[in-house]
Parts: sequence; C-alpha cells; structure tokens
Amino acid sequence: MTIDQNDQDIPTHPTIPYIVGDGIGPEIWQAAQPIWDQAVRQAYGGGRKLHWQEALAGSKALEETGDLLPAETMQALTEHPVSIKGPLATPVGGGFRSLNVTLRQALDLYACVRPIRWIPGVPSPVCHPEKVDMVIFRENTEDLYAGIEFQAESLLNQQLRRWLEEHDPELFARLRFPDSSAFSLKPISREGSQRLMRAALHYALTHHRKRLTLVHKGNIMKFTEGAFLNWGYDLAESEFGDRVITQRQIQQQTPRQQTIKTDPVSSSAATEKLWVNDVITDAAFEQTLTQPEAFDIIATMNLNGDYLSDALTAQVGGLGIAPGANVNTEANRALFEATHGTAPSLAGRNCANPCSLILSGAMMLSHLGWQEAADLVEAAIRATLALKIITPDFQRLMPDIDAVTTAGFSEAVLQQMATLTSNPARDHQENNLD
Ligand code: NAD
Repeated sequence: MTIDQNDQDIPTHPTIPYIVGDGIGPEIWQAAQPIWDQAVRQAYGGGRKLHWQEALAGSKALEETGDLLPAETMQALTEHPVSIKGPLATPVGGGFRSLNVTLRQALDLYACVRPIRWIPGVPSPVCHPEKVDMVIFRENTEDLYAGIEFQAESLLNQQLRRWLEEHDPELFARLRFPDSSAFSLKPISREGSQRLMRAALHYALTHHRKRLTLVHKGNIMKFTEGAFLNWGYDLAESEFGDRVITQRQIQQQTPRQQTIKTDPVSSSAATEKLWVNDVITDAAFEQTLTQPEAFDIIATMNLNGDYLSDALTAQVGGLGIAPGANVNTEANRALFEATHGTAPSLAGRNCANPCSLILSGAMMLSHLGWQEAADLVEAAIRATLALKIITPDFQRLMPDIDAVTTAGFSEAVLQQMATLTSNPARDHQENNLD
C-alpha cells in the first residue's frame, strides 16, 4: 500500500534508522528484518539494499546512554525521510511522557495511517471479515494527546479554576466536583484538522476509493470535534470541490422534511466523485462492525482514531497483524511502526506475532517505491497464513491448529518467499530509479 508517491529520487541503498523497541520489540525485529532484506534481494538482486542504522530509544537507550530518547536518535530520524520502529513502553498515571507521542509531535508526523484489511486464512470473530477494507487517517499531533494536563490540587490547577470562576462563572458551575477535578486541554486547530483531511482526501482520490468518512463527536464537543468536522468539509469543498460530493452539500440543498432518495455513493460513483460524509464516533463503532462495507477511508482526530483503529483490527485478526505509519507528506518524512504495544506478558517468550511489524515494513518498501519487494513480503505472508502457519494469538480462534514461535513464523515466511517469482517488471523499474 503506497501512502504517497514521492517524486524525488530514491537512492538504491537508502539508510533506514530503526528502533528495535521494548518488550516484544527485539523478538519481532529479529523476525522481520531478514524478511525485508530477502524481499529486496529477491526483487532487485544486488541492485538495491536497505542500509540499516540502529537508533536507540526506550529501555535499551536508557541502559546504554542514560537517556530514553537520545539526541542522536532524534537527529537520525530528522535527517532521514524514512524510518521504522518497534513498540515503546509508557508508564501509566505518572512517570515519563509517551515516547511514541513525543516522536510523532517532535517530528510533526501529523497523520497516522492504518490500513485495516483482512488477509484470507486469518481467524476473525466476525462472519464476513472480507468486507473490511478501510484506511484510517488519525490526526497525530493534537487533541488530548497534546499532554496539556492540570493535575488535581496542583497550583496550576487552582489557578486555572480561579480564572474560570472569575471569567465565566456559568462554565465554572458545570464542574461537578471543582475542588478535586483534574483537567486536560483538547487543542484542535484549523491547520491541524485540514492538513490531516488533505492527506486523507489525497490518498482517497489517488487510490480511487469511493468514500471518505469524517468521524467526530461534534454533537457534544462542538468547538473542538464539531470544528474538526466543519473544517474538514470546508477543505473538501474548497480544495477538492471538482472531485468530491459532500453530505453537507446535499443536506444544504435538500429541504429538511425531504429524505434523500438517491444512494449518495452510487450517485457519486456515477459522476466518479468521492463521497465525503460524517458519522458520530459512537455510531461509527457500531456501524464499522455491522456494515463495514459502508466504510472506506476514515479521517478522525487523535483519541477517536486511537480507539477506532485498535477496535477495527479485531475484525481482521487483532493487533498482531495491523500495520501502520506516521507521516508528514509535505516534510517528506515517514516513521513506520508496529501498531501494537510492547505486550509485556509475551516479552522474551518467542511467541509474539511479528506480522504487524513485517507488514509495516512492506508499507515502507512501497513508500520507497520498491513495490516489487513490498509485494513479495505481502505475498509471502499471505502464503504462510493460507497454510495455517500461525502464532499463538491466532490460535485462540483456531484451537485445532498448532501454533509456531515468532522465529518459526519468520522462517516459514522466508521459505514461502523463496518459492515466489519476483515481478519481471523490476529490471525496467531498476533503470528508472537509478
Ligand atoms: P499492547 O498492544 O502491548 O497489548 C494489548 C494486547 O495485545 C495484549 O493482550 C497483548 O498480548 C496483545 N498483543 C499486542 N501485540 C501483540 C503481538 N505482536 N502478538 C500477539 N499479541 C499481541 O498494549 P498495552 O498492553 O495496552 O500496552 C503495553 C505497553 O505498550 C504500554 O507501555 C503502552 O504504553 C505501550 N504501547 C506502545 C505503542 C507504540 O509503541 N506505538 C502502542 C500501544 C501501546
């Protein structure tokens, strides 16, 4: 899956900074890297190669440098347009701030792109996982994740409450237990909302998708999530007006009492326009489960996107298999990552599913324009899963099948890849890129 095609030249031996990550990170990294390297070798012979450069972060960085996120790591990730990482641990309710969030904000990787698509053979709790084919664009730098929090009973908290009481007693009166309330700010900006929407629209149009849905809770949080919705529609209509039809336009044209008789997607398909609509977050959780075929590209804010993207992976095999990327297309920067966390209870047991990281690497290869290698990785994963070679997380829904280890799964993928032929178009591509 290509996030966005870069026009600039891609070197044949690009340097890729990588963070192994905490918990199961080292195990899934060891399983994944040989697969990407073999795919590149198989697709391009010696003509191209990934040059790996380790960047320390998390517990390994703390052990070796005394710093959780050393300046050298930030420099490597800033200097190189493409990098990849495993999961990093964050303490709950105190301690240091999330390194993942810090990386996304410091590198301004404003869009978290999460494709949610089922691979045949993967066990699913739903009857029709083949109907699930969505890509979530989650805003990555704003919202409650900005980390602007006021701890209960702290001095800043008291000042904030006093200020509110003084300046807007009516708002202050809405605090149910003012003396012990903690607060968190939810910044949602026009620029932040619109660049996310622009990236999602661009993706939807270049990939010939049919529908883009804004997911929001604007009925309750009118000035934040409601503004995200309005800014999203504004941008779609102003910058992409000749290529989209929006639900807002239809509603403005249709008198309130009348119902819309035509199916918006089929009528927009007739004019080859992208249908842009919106769904309130709680309904989106229900509808993506009961009618997944009605969703295609989703654009949403940070917190909704976090919940929704993990929830949706359940339909296609769970966190162990869902890939992702954090991108800033204007700055030409992308950090690919396993979307799950450190899975502490599995760490060191050689039983984690490495597919999320492996498929994130396939997204990375595709982003580099190395589509033949990306296709080989994906085809080898598909072939392995079709043979019912699975890790223990899938065994829960396939109790009759014996699971393999993380390393065993990697071996099986490498074996399957060796049986695949590379794309014959590669020589032609090779010449174009050199
Ligand atoms: P988690 O994703 O680590 O685990 C959630 C569940 O999914 C667990 O049951 C786990 O065993 C399972 N799971 C996750 N990855 C798996 C895999 N590859 N194979 C098989 N099963 C897998 O989420 P959590 O427990 O909420 O968080 C643990 C730590 O990870 C926390 O410190 C959290 O902050 C961090 N985290 C990091 C990232 C990231 O680096 N992007 C994302 C989420 C959580």
